[in-house]
Amino acid sequence: MIYADNAATTKMDNDAFEAMREFLTVNYGNASQQYSFSSTPKRAIKEAREIIAQCIGADSEEIYFTSCGTESDNWAIKMGAGKNGEVITSVIEHHAILNSCRSVEKLGHVVHYIPVSSQGIIDINSLREKLSNKTSLVSVMYANNEIGSLQPIQEMIKLAHDKGALFHTDAVQAVGHIDIDVHKLGIDMLSASAHKFNGPKGIGFLYIRKGLALAPFIDGGQQEFGKRAGTENVAAIVAMAVALKNNVKEITSNSKKILELERRLISNLNEANIDFVRNGSTNHIPGNISLSFANAEGEVLLHRLDLMGICISTGSACDSVNTQVSHVIKAINVPKRYAEGTIRISLGKWNTEADVDSIVEAIIKILQEVV
Ligand code: PLP
Repeated sequence: MIYADNAATTKMDNDAFEAMREFLTVNYGNASQQYSFSSTPKRAIKEAREIIAQCIGADSEEIYFTSCGTESDNWAIKMGAGKNGEVITSVIEHHAILNSCRSVEKLGHVVHYIPVSSQGIIDINSLREKLSNKTSLVSVMYANNEIGSLQPIQEMIKLAHDKGALFHTDAVQAVGHIDIDVHKLGIDMLSASAHKFNGPKGIGFLYIRKGLALAPFIDGGQQEFGKRAGTENVAAIVAMAVALKNNVKEITSNSKKILELERRLISNLNEANIDFVRNGSTNHIPGNISLSFANAEGEVLLHRLDLMGICISTGSACDSVNTQVSHVIKAINVPKRYAEGTIRISLGKWNTEADVDSIVEAIIKILQEVV
């Protein structure tokens, strides 16, 4: 099997997996209890918070553990919108953001959806026009999950802050893959998810800048500084910290390796005279490769590749009657001849040149048969 869907989820880091075991079978105490059996899990959570904070340039009190990236995004939008402020986001956000925005719209908030260029980069002029002193929150993703494009975060933060608005970024695809320093950038809130950086599923975090009085998201006990109640998932928290630390340590070498694999894949396709376009920006998350093949169907490619033992994803959602091109592929205006033939190959740190060669060979074979 060749796994090339690392933007969907990643294989767990071995050190992270090993680190979990102790907190499931030996030191399984509830970290909120008073007796000494709980002191080890309590300390482990504190250390994990410190490690994670260091990895993104934050202070440990600014890290709030959540159950996933989706929860972090829900918290940021629903609480960041404030009492009746306006929200600004982009048209290419993940549904965790888009559907949270729909929810606050139902509560009476105005939400502006900013268009993007054909490379998937936010239209800064349009953002500037929509910003006003009514804006309470600007939320734009760090890197897009379907096409990998990185957004001009610093420029957007400045614009948002000039109008007194908060800036949140869904960095689920970016954390652990590129260097991020939240303090240097001036980010107010940032969402992350462990399973995207070789940690376990079902754990994530929201960075909330110190001094920002964001309302609590889950009511109950006093966990997460009284803002997100629920017994802590100690094993997953510890594993998330180990996975992030390991990934951050290797960011430069992994990026270099993955970008070389990307170049190999694209040049192999070009050499075979395949009619395709690559979507997204040259400034992108290493390994996220969105390709649209002329007159092909992404779903067919996915299923044929699956039969050949290769996991990738598509840029579309299909039912028995229609293939629907995804909101991202639509937003960047991929020409119709190509749009339905979109797939996303997302390479990770464990992919090899042999994987890339096999993927390209398989795509060529399928296209020869179906186009
Ligand atoms: N945001 C982005 C950009 C994502 O890619 C994803 C997952 O695909 C999420 C949010 C949701 O993260 P989780 O799977 O942890 O809920």
